[in-house]
Amino acid sequence: MKLLKEKIVNEGIVLNENVLKVDSFINHQMDPVLMKEIGKEFAERFKDDKVSKILTIESSGIAPAIMAGLEMGVQVIFARKRKSLTLTENLYTSSVYSFTKQESNDITVSKQYIEPGENVLIIDDFLANGQAALGLAEIVQQAKANISGIGVLIEKSFQPGAEELLAKGYRLESLARIASLNNKQVEFAPERTYQNI
Ligand code: 5GP
Repeated sequence: MKLLKEKIVNEGIVLNENVLKVDSFINHQMDPVLMKEIGKEFAERFKDDKVSKILTIESSGIAPAIMAGLEMGVQVIFARKRKSLTLTENLYTSSVYSFTKQESNDITVSKQYIEPGENVLIIDDFLANGQAALGLAEIVQQAKANISGIGVLIEKSFQPGAEELLAKGYRLESLARIASLNNKQVEFAPERTYQNI
């Protein structure tokens, strides 16, 4: 996605060869114009998938997910990173190891918000090792719903998450793919294309 890649080039800060900082438009300050376009892009890419709900994880997945939900006309749920103190028996739970914080969190979603048989699109800001996406996928499976696909804003293709999700058979749509962050430079990878079989 051209607009996102331009933002990354102009405003992204390569912290080291593994981490890209995007605080000025995704992770701290948020750019509503960019988020709106991201919502449209996900809606276009998943337009044939009968998506009935979007699932993301707090906090940076919420902005793109809500814009996609607005475009697609579906409700958006965010998984919480802490267990709520009440009604724990009514929660789907999965454990996620955080790449950036280097700690594990239980993520939870209230059972009432995912119906069995729903088509759920998972959205997150970054894809690194795939832990967040896999944790969200596990929650969809616990709910006996279908995973329409996984949409991420930025895939770091040099880390193993993308391969792992594809190996599990998930459809993955990444709006920007980064091949390398070496030498403080962002090098993009080509868009992934799916062939109709
Ligand atoms: P994963 O679970 O795929 O290993 O990592 C995804 C999560 O880690 C994302 O939700 C995102 O918050 C965070 N993350 C991973 N890599 C980066 C990065 O390079 N920059 C930023 N800002 N966040 C990242």
